[in-house]
Amino acid sequence: MTRRQFHAEDVPTSSDCASPRTSRPPVQELGPGSASIAASILDVQCLAGNRAVSSLYAAREADNQAAWLLEAAENGFEATPGGVDSLDLRPKAKAIASELRQTYPAIVFTSGKRSEVEGQARAMAGNVVSNRAWIAETYSDKSLSGQLQDWVDKNPTATTKNAIAVGLAGVMATWSEEQKGKLSAHFTGEAFDIQPQTEDADAIKSRAASLATAAGGKFLEKEGGLVRWHLQVRE
Ligand SMILES: [Zn+2]
Repeated sequence: MTRRQFHAEDVPTSSDCASPRTSRPPVQELGPGSASIAASILDVQCLAGNRAVSSLYAAREADNQAAWLLEAAENGFEATPGGVDSLDLRPKAKAIASELRQTYPAIVFTSGKRSEVEGQARAMAGNVVSNRAWIAETYSDKSLSGQLQDWVDKNPTATTKNAIAVGLAGVMATWSEEQKGKLSAHFTGEAFDIQPQTEDADAIKSRAASLATAAGGKFLEKEGGLVRWHLQVRE
């Protein structure tokens, strides 16, 4: 069976939320591991609520959204009142996350501090599957991201998320903590991601941007052409 990209229509319906996982319909015609991927996405659907998820799938970049939901599932963050603590952020970023959560309780955080290169590599690989120039288009530190983009360019046969993640993790494993922190503020707990949503979207985005700017940081709603709400503030 050949593996293909995960599509929005592969995602199980959220009416399955109430039933135990064992009773969910099997996901067919997908590669190895795809049933557990679908189950993870369903978990995110159940956490995030149908409305937000349905509107995501209505978006044109449905494949990107599926990859994004998968990243959220892998990071394991939950839509709970204590969610900000689980992000493991430095004080400035944490204060902003807390304020946003207080003002907009429906906010779902999908990523905070990433201590392992594997987590960062998986998150990046999901984007590279959609766009092989994503790293070069996204990261400002060209010497480090250049090493990663180089690996992608020199390994055209690595097209699955797993194969790309292993390659990128191998490159990052040779870096110092300082270098990792330079590549991504997620490594130092100085960045977090918010699930893009339709309700109050403009208000949330403008509040996030003004809080970030006031603290000397920045807010991005697109990275490398993918919808992704990322806020970072260095200490
Ligand atoms: Zn981010």
